[in-house]
Amino acid sequence: MAAKPTFSQEISNLLYASQGSPLKNCIQCGTCSGTCPVVNYMDQTPRRLIGMINANLKEDVLDCNTYWFCASCYHCTVRCPAKIDIAEAMYAVKRYSIWHKTYSEDLVGPTFSETFVKTIINNGRSFEPVLAPTYMFSMGIKEVLQEAYMGTQMMLKGRMPVLPTKIKRLDNFKKVIRRIIPMGGEK
Ligand code: SF4
Ligand code: SF4
Repeated sequence: MAAKPTFSQEISNLLYASQGSPLKNCIQCGTCSGTCPVVNYMDQTPRRLIGMINANLKEDVLDCNTYWFCASCYHCTVRCPAKIDIAEAMYAVKRYSIWHKTYSEDLVGPTFSETFVKTIINNGRSFEPVLAPTYMFSMGIKEVLQEAYMGTQMMLKGRMPVLPTKIKRLDNFKKVIRRIIPMGGEK
């Protein structure tokens, strides 16, 4: 019987489409952490997260907020001397966390990501009025009212549709998506 893959191997497998070097090539230089604009909000720095994945510290990796706070700016990826695609590694851990339902309920990121992917799969494009409730209620009442006002103004000016619209040849699009990600969340 084939040996069960380690956590590190599972995350590496999720990076099969990435052009980056293997995570094992990390030299722990800290360039990624020094570059990251949101590092101050992260439980663990990007450098530590890569080290924790390589050390198979699965629970510690999944427990931290680092990958949910990653803004996907790719600064770390373009500066990494080992040519590791750190931003894609963050996405890989996000996907792993969603599929295994290991994320903390108080985080906005997982619900937002799942809703976004479902909206794209069902319509072929994003639809902000469905996405907004996934994060709006984590804001204060003033910010919620500002968002609602802005959304209404955009609808009135025709900058945002009132109902979701679907792209042409949606079935073809779904076939492409099916080759990239599992369709477990599809309605
Ligand atoms: S910049 Fe690259 S090599 Fe340096 S710590 Fe980050 S992932 Fe590792
Ligand atoms: S891609 Fe994510 S981890 Fe990398 S620098 Fe940007 S926010 Fe930080």
